[in-house]
Amino acid sequence: TPLDPEAMFKQGFLNDVYNERPVKPVMSRFPPEPNGFLHIGHSKAIAVNFGFAKYHGGHCILRFDDTNPEAEEEIYFTAIEDMVRWLGFEPHKITYSSDNFGKLYEMAEKLITLEKAYVCHCGDEEIKLQRGGEKGATPRYRCKHAEQTVEHNLREFRRMRDGAYRPREAFLRMKQDITSGNPQNWDLAAYRVLDKPHHRTGDEWKIYPTYDFTHCLCDSFEGITHSLCTTEFYLSRESYEWLNGQLVEWQPIQREYGRLSISGGILSKRKLKELVEKKIVRGWDDPRLFTLIGVKRRGVPPGAILEFVNELGVTTTNSIIQASRFEQTIRRYLERTVPRLMLVLDPVPVIIEDAGELDGAELDIPFSTKNTEMGSHKIKFTKTVYIDRSDFREVDSKDYFRLAPGKTVGLLYAPFPIKATSFTKDETTGKITEIRAVFDRETKKPKTYIQWVGTDGRNAEVRLYNSLFLSDNPASAEGGYLNDINPESEVVYPNALIESGIDEVKRRAPWPEAAGEDKLGKGGPESVRFQGLRVAYFALDSDSTDDKIILNRIVSLKEDVKK
Ligand code: ATP
Ligand code: MG
Ligand code: MG
Repeated sequence: TPLDPEAMFKQGFLNDVYNERPVKPVMSRFPPEPNGFLHIGHSKAIAVNFGFAKYHGGHCILRFDDTNPEAEEEIYFTAIEDMVRWLGFEPHKITYSSDNFGKLYEMAEKLITLEKAYVCHCGDEEIKLQRGGEKGATPRYRCKHAEQTVEHNLREFRRMRDGAYRPREAFLRMKQDITSGNPQNWDLAAYRVLDKPHHRTGDEWKIYPTYDFTHCLCDSFEGITHSLCTTEFYLSRESYEWLNGQLVEWQPIQREYGRLSISGGILSKRKLKELVEKKIVRGWDDPRLFTLIGVKRRGVPPGAILEFVNELGVTTTNSIIQASRFEQTIRRYLERTVPRLMLVLDPVPVIIEDAGELDGAELDIPFSTKNTEMGSHKIKFTKTVYIDRSDFREVDSKDYFRLAPGKTVGLLYAPFPIKATSFTKDETTGKITEIRAVFDRETKKPKTYIQWVGTDGRNAEVRLYNSLFLSDNPASAEGGYLNDINPESEVVYPNALIESGIDEVKRRAPWPEAAGEDKLGKGGPESVRFQGLRVAYFALDSDSTDDKIILNRIVSLKEDVKK
């Protein structure tokens, strides 16, 4: 039986966090910076923030943390929102940190007035020294700018705003506590000059607030009760509380949970970009990548991702999970939720000489032998059936139980087992071109049943995906991650056959309405998922058209089958 889908909220870290402030309604936020596509790690952040609010009957805001116009692009906004919905969550509101630029500016002036901020003109080297030098070995000190009067700072800050300074010539610093052991208290930057137009505010602003200044204040403006972020922000909690304490009434609480990453994958934007640009992968949504658009395209159900996050639980430690563990959860999820079809990767025709009237016979076959609620569908049994090349051997042996000359094998759901009588071979390629067989009406229980597709099947291109990298830690592989590419990470079978039942599976997808997908209406091609009997789990690829079926392997049937 699957784990309680709300387990992660009922115990451990998230339960403790709620109990620290057991208010209703809970207000949380998911605050991505729109500077790239989301990856599998972000699905944890989405599950944590949206899930926490949902569990406590509250609300979660999708907030684009768009304070850095240098790194942000329009396409990421929609892509991020799509992924949140795909995972089954509805943002209470969609907000933008940049909506608050005016208010944040006022807050900065207020901070100056409180003598808690000053305009500084020091360069990077000088600031490093102020913060204790190379190894923090020398005493920390403040520069002369920290002594400026409120009037001077206000005047300078307004000049920054009005474009009197070039980038790096001036910045606003918070006046915190440089005697503290926590570097987050060492007079952090609050505002910097940037000569970049912003995609929402255009060229209205020449100065932009930093993360440290923006995040806590936006949390307060939005009435966030619990601000959940990852542990690299642990030290920032102090500056978060300090700044809000100076400026605003409502005090959200920030708490930190561990990041999730998957071993054997690459999540760094720069490296992913290189893989895409060098065409090592099919794009940012390549099924081998752990971007969420990639995982989606591969056919991984959103419900399986949520189940995975829930199973791992939420703690304060970062976790690096083996890809095989992720796949195990996906497999278990698919096992319960998808129909079965017969698929032949590398077809060889078998002509059943005595098919007689059974040629064209209609068979009613179940979509799942385990779950009768999935119903059944009809396919045709035909005199010529296609079986997989790997299910035939020219020379029989005792320990072999599939088809060979003189040997009997069962055909799944077919009226009788078949026995091979002869075969023909292409002399130049050495490949079997045709097998002849007869029904074996004597053998009631053949040792093995194999899948087959009749002449009413459909052509398909099948792409089998394996790990993109050879090692578990491609980032530190010898010669770099580009030297660690698995040559078999994508194996294509261009001439596969799939039984006609695929039509109904397409019509009825997703099976059943899994988390998120019902919200997108019919679901994309990737929601057409099935188990190819004896082969693997598959989903329709987004390159498919009405006339062309392209399938991606989501996961193998068993862990050890994986190449
Ligand atoms: P990246 O640089 O990998 O994109 P990030 O920290 O810059 O990550 P943001 O876009 O700022 O990511 O992320 C939005 C939220 O998602 C943040 O609260 C962040 O803590 C969280 N998050 C990012 N990566 C992970 C991860 N691997 N596991 C869990 N949460 C994550
Ligand atoms: Mg990011
Ligand atoms: Mg970031």
